[in-house]
Amino acid sequence: MSKVLIIGAGGVGQVVAHKCAQQPEIFSSICLASRTVSKCDAIAEGIEREIVTASVDANDAENVVALLDRQKPAIVINVAQPYQNLPIQEACARCGVHYVDTSMYDEPEIFATDYAPQLAFSDRMAEGSATGVLSIGFDPGVVNVFCAYAQKHHFDQIDHIDIIDCNDGDHGLPFATNFDPETNIREILADALYYESGEMKSAEALTVKKDFEFPGLGMRTGYLMFHEEVISIAENFPGVKSVKFWMTFGEAYLRHLNVLRNVGLTSTEPIDYNGQQVVPLQFLKAVLPEPASLGPRYTGKTCIATILEGTKDGAEKKIIIYNHCDHKEAYNEVGVQAISYTTGVPAVTAAQQVLEGGWNVPGVHCPETLDPDPFLEALAKNGLPWHVKEL
Ligand code: NDP
Repeated sequence: MSKVLIIGAGGVGQVVAHKCAQQPEIFSSICLASRTVSKCDAIAEGIEREIVTASVDANDAENVVALLDRQKPAIVINVAQPYQNLPIQEACARCGVHYVDTSMYDEPEIFATDYAPQLAFSDRMAEGSATGVLSIGFDPGVVNVFCAYAQKHHFDQIDHIDIIDCNDGDHGLPFATNFDPETNIREILADALYYESGEMKSAEALTVKKDFEFPGLGMRTGYLMFHEEVISIAENFPGVKSVKFWMTFGEAYLRHLNVLRNVGLTSTEPIDYNGQQVVPLQFLKAVLPEPASLGPRYTGKTCIATILEGTKDGAEKKIIIYNHCDHKEAYNEVGVQAISYTTGVPAVTAAQQVLEGGWNVPGVHCPETLDPDPFLEALAKNGLPWHVKEL
């Protein structure tokens, strides 16, 4: 019986709040805090259990410490922007509170590509008997756990890992992002970073593509992209020869993105506009649809998978481990689309495992370094069933 503090009241925060509320035997009380408290109140109104709401500026660790002192949670589920990861981790380390997030930390003007600053909290967390689980959404997150599961049950040696992500849904709008536009557009336009032959390599954004057969959806074209799980998986699976992340995009999406980039609206360099400093990408975010508002319009499903190739008992082997998530079903259950659902459910499952399952391991961890079995069993029960297929 533990109190959970959720920070961030976007689409993912909404899923996390609903899913924690569904498990009162684990999350005995819930506080939902964010920069704009009215968004927390709107989410709380849609949930039958009592949810305390609070306002917090999580860019400042002192603010988060004050909130932790007032609320005294056992665990924080951080689903704000990646910019807030380090201050929230600092507060959790100081107060001895468990910590879970869903993406690698980032800085507004530097694109972070290294977990070291987040893992550096490990000793302090361990001293306070607190556990931190990093980047446990779906990708990064569950796809990392799929690698650990494959290593434990299917392979002696994993040689190649391809993570593939297809949103086959349709929201009917000309252009919108499925989660925080700033994070989403930055990662798509960053140079693709992949691991091959013992080193990280890069390629210009959206220039390398490959066709993949997505179970249940058919052939789709994936574009090689930077995604943070490539970095930690390459480090944590010694001997792996390649780790690559591929995402599919519709033609209309890419056309819009190219125009926005070409006219300078995706830039993170501040410009002076009528005496005011404006970051073009932040302005663009302000005029794009809120990701949380896409839910009612969405049909179709997502398919996210890890394809692994290697050897078992001297024979070559290739498998795919995947999940399908239906946008409408997600919306009917928690009021948001599948992208937020597939991020929020793993975060809640991780929190559950830290509080009552096999993931109470003081220190800070990437998900592929923890035991995959109890997590994956709970994940399926929590609404994200997954399947293994030999290829
Ligand atoms: P949204 O942008 O919809 O929501 C982010 C929330 O964080 C908003 O409520 C925002 O408040 C709040 N916030 C922003 N700055 C602060 C601050 N300084 N202090 C407190 N709260 C703040 O994002 P999503 O819900 O779509 O995504 C949440 C997280 O999930 C992101 O970090 C994203 O990168 C991650 N993600 C991970 C995926 C995965 O598979 N691993 C996939 C998709 C998302 P306000 O409303 O005031 O702006």
